[in-house]
Amino acid sequence: MKKTLALILALVMVAFAFASCGKKNADATTAAGTTAAGTAAAQTTAAETTAAPTQPTCQHVPEDMWRVTTPATCSTPGVEKLYCKECGEELQERPIEIDPNAHKVDEWTVTEAANMLNPTGSRTGVCTLCQNNVVEDILWEGPTIKAFDSISERYGMAEVKLEDVRGDDHFYPTEVNPEGKDLYVEFSILWNETVLNFAGANDGDTKDDPYMVGRFYDGKPFYYLSPVPGMDYSDANFSGAFEWTGNFATTISDSEVTTPATMCGAAPNYSDYPNIAGTDEANPEYGWHRFGIRYHLDLLDGKTGADLKDYVGIVTAFVDGTAIFKMSTGSDGMQNWESMLFKAESDGEGGIVYSDAGDIVVPFIMNKSNTKADTVAYLAFADVYVTCGTDFVMKVEKVASPEADTLEVAEGVEIPAPVYFKLAD
Ligand SMILES: [Zn+2]
Ligand SMILES: [Zn+2]
Repeated sequence: MKKTLALILALVMVAFAFASCGKKNADATTAAGTTAAGTAAAQTTAAETTAAPTQPTCQHVPEDMWRVTTPATCSTPGVEKLYCKECGEELQERPIEIDPNAHKVDEWTVTEAANMLNPTGSRTGVCTLCQNNVVEDILWEGPTIKAFDSISERYGMAEVKLEDVRGDDHFYPTEVNPEGKDLYVEFSILWNETVLNFAGANDGDTKDDPYMVGRFYDGKPFYYLSPVPGMDYSDANFSGAFEWTGNFATTISDSEVTTPATMCGAAPNYSDYPNIAGTDEANPEYGWHRFGIRYHLDLLDGKTGADLKDYVGIVTAFVDGTAIFKMSTGSDGMQNWESMLFKAESDGEGGIVYSDAGDIVVPFIMNKSNTKADTVAYLAFADVYVTCGTDFVMKVEKVASPEADTLEVAEGVEIPAPVYFKLAD
């Protein structure tokens, strides 16, 4: 009880001190103002006859916030300063405690990729300040949403240099990889009903037909995908169907690609693929799908690489982890189909010397991508990888239970976005 009383008394005294202090300050200001004005006036008068005037001294009003001039790191304290809001002069300085989490890592290694099905991944690296190993979350940034309208023309993903994709690997056969390595292009697309707004289907005019394609910069496409059914001059006759490209016309059916062997033609459909069908029976293609294209190049037996016809190309297309399409240029070779991953040359002594083709690959392009009048088509895509190797980065195996989910593709515009695939265990 005594303690409480003493505390109250102390508070009252403090409050009184503040109040009187405030009053004193006010008086002082008034006094100072008067004095200053008086002095200034006096000095001005003096200056007329004697020396230059001195500047009136700033009363220094500190800013509300301290400013960090040197941030703290995991190893060194930082510094923050308080400045005068009137004249900018530094009034006070104080240290900031060492921040044990403020590491500096120059080179990160992704240990768990963040993607649509795993939105929180992680990365690790060594701090250059304290030499400790640092582990940090990485968050998936969400899908890219591209809107197309009646005047859209062409939209392409960023170009990727094969030499960057290849790294230390080679597409051509080596002692370590006698089959060579393959080019892998993979991405997720939200196949949705707005895709059907693309113009051109069944209109008898080829010039408007939209198509999706992956291609080499100076060469030719290595896959076609139809966004809408009824494409003119195309056998890919339903939304989301793959079509063969040029002389990639020899169908391969093997243990990897089972019935139906292709998605070219009107008969096969998404509903034919148990791993692909969605919940909407009328439109089983709707939903997020994982597309993968593997491109392999070989030198035909007994050939030296002097001619494009010496090479054979094989394209395999995957939807949601299922190989649905495998086409080859066959024994006729590449003809004029210049999608080269490597070049081969005779060494003049019966051997072959291989070199890398320094080309550029574009994972996908939406071509002729205009829509029907007053409609918008939204293409949402994510997790695009272009790699050189023997497998996909995001290996997809089977269908997940579709989730009731929507994606806002524009302000106030939502489309269903169930997930129909999942990563392999
Ligand atoms: Zn000041
Ligand atoms: Zn550190």
